[in-house]
Amino acid sequence: MATNRTFTMIKPDATGAGYTGKIIDRIIDAGFSIKAMKWTQLSIDDARAFYAVHAERPFFGDLTEYMSSGPIVAAILEKDNAVVDFRELIGATNPADAAPGTIRADFAESISANAVHGSDSDENAAIEGAFYFSARELA
Ligand code: UDP
Ligand code: MG
Repeated sequence: MATNRTFTMIKPDATGAGYTGKIIDRIIDAGFSIKAMKWTQLSIDDARAFYAVHAERPFFGDLTEYMSSGPIVAAILEKDNAVVDFRELIGATNPADAAPGTIRADFAESISANAVHGSDSDENAAIEGAFYFSARELA
């Protein structure tokens, strides 16, 4: 997949708090275009599969329970330097450490319920995007 794409999820804390529209506005205002988007919910098995890379981490059980606890919005985004620029837009994993003005600083509840996911590499962006979307679903 092209290196100008990343993948995001708006997580259950943020959809539940009514921040979905505000977060999508931030993403578009930052220059990302939406290639695909869906409102959906992960089963616990879906969440375990999506986060399999973290299976050995101590927070894996809580993370997968949390990520399957309510609706999420999954999206593939396009922009030059998408992966790096999106990580900058969302801020640090722990909202207490996230730079002012970042999405996590403004909308996240905690290090676990941290409002949004952003892929950490081009390779993972392609894998994560393909978890949710077929090529036919990309605009
Ligand atoms: N997470 C957590 N506790 C931690 C670290 C991470 O609950 O100590 C959760 C959090 O939701 C995070 C996700 O696991 O977004 C994936 O962790 P990662 O280190 O990949 O952070 P990210 O790439 O999302 O910033
Ligand atoms: Mg990560």
